[in-house]
Amino acid sequence: MPIPCEFEYHKPPDVRRAVEILERYGAQAAVLAGGTDLLVWLKEGLAAPRAVVNVKGITELHALEVREGALYVGACVTFTKLLESAVVSNRLPLLWECSRTVGSVGSAVSVSSNGSASRSFASVARRASSAR
Ligand SMILES: Cc1cc2nc3c(=O)[nH]c(=O)nc-3n(C[C@H](O)[C@H](O)[C@H](O)COP(=O)(O)OP(=O)(O)OC[C@H]3O[C@@H](n4cnc5c(N)ncnc54)[C@H](O)[C@@H]3O)c2cc1C
Repeated sequence: MPIPCEFEYHKPPDVRRAVEILERYGAQAAVLAGGTDLLVWLKEGLAAPRAVVNVKGITELHALEVREGALYVGACVTFTKLLESAVVSNRLPLLWECSRTVGSVGSAVSVSSNGSASRSFASVARRASSAR
């Protein structure tokens, strides 16, 4: 499905540049991280930003580390990374447990029945069941 609106696409190399762009466009900007929500909203016309700012390539937003006794979780850290972290599993078991149980296949299909990920999953599931 094509995206019905036009927008400027920015892929800043670091947080400083990302903030500059976000400040310039204010509420007219949309941050793009994984895109699982935003791309669906763009395709369905639920969002029409003037600028899309892709932050996925910003290394410091993927950081997961202890700093001065506190856990720093970057905005682009995935749940998989939380699950694989020894610090999280050993010292923050509740966060580890939440990361493990936050999503399910059933909710993914029902929450976004028009989303491309859902359609892909439904298509694979149909093929798997018909292959039996
Ligand atoms: C098929 C499908 C299944 C899903 N299943 C689940 C599920 O089981 N559990 C669940 O919790 N969620 C689920 N979601 C929702 C979605 O995956 C989550 O909301 C996820 O956190 C979106 O992450 P993303 O990086 O892809 O965000 P994006 O789609 O890139 O962005 C989502 C929103 O967050 C904003 N944003 C992103 N990064 C930043 C940032 N650093 N700072 C400020 N704003 C930011 C974007 O501008 C946008 O408004 C599902 C979505 C789909 C389409």
